[in-house]
Amino acid sequence: KSIVQPDVKPKKKLKLATCSLAGCFGCHMSFLDMDERLIELLERVELSRSPLNDIKTCAPDCDLGLIEGAVCNTENIAVLRHFRESCKIIIAVGSCAINGGVPSLRNNIDVKDCLDEAYLNGIGLVNPKVPIDKELPYLLEKVYPIHEVIKVDYFLPGCPPPADAFWKILNDLLDGKEPELPYDLLHFD
Ligand code: SF4
Repeated sequence: KSIVQPDVKPKKKLKLATCSLAGCFGCHMSFLDMDERLIELLERVELSRSPLNDIKTCAPDCDLGLIEGAVCNTENIAVLRHFRESCKIIIAVGSCAINGGVPSLRNNIDVKDCLDEAYLNGIGLVNPKVPIDKELPYLLEKVYPIHEVIKVDYFLPGCPPPADAFWKILNDLLDGKEPELPYDLLHFD
């Protein structure tokens, strides 16, 4: 007696990429705070480039890109533009990505003064020297939120956004719905 298999094809997983520009990784930590829900999420998404799996290249056909951190150097700009080219939907995650956050506190200080303070005048420095190497990206004069460099589709506020907010926005998008977050997940605004 033959067994008839039901004609149910597994749903295609969406590709999700994440990265941190000038950020503290706190937003990624909050993403991980989804805890056991991450297993459920990974049934619906496949991770592309992310510090969570250490894959360094973004797949060209990503569906979702989560960006933590502000734009403070030339490498950040290149990464951001690559994410925009590779991902259908870009989400700015956290205060640094949305409005510059903590990294932008240097915007009223000359870049040279920042470098001198960090590398020449700091307490306890041995052989003080400002690092210069062709491998190092150039600092920008100012720190920018990501929407000033690329088009952003959604903004997830917070420092960091709570895990429940990640869960809600990702599930709404995975369900093909316009994300709607209740006020208690947006209380940093
Ligand atoms: Fe860190 Fe807050 Fe910036 Fe996220 S928004 S990268 S938690 S400082």
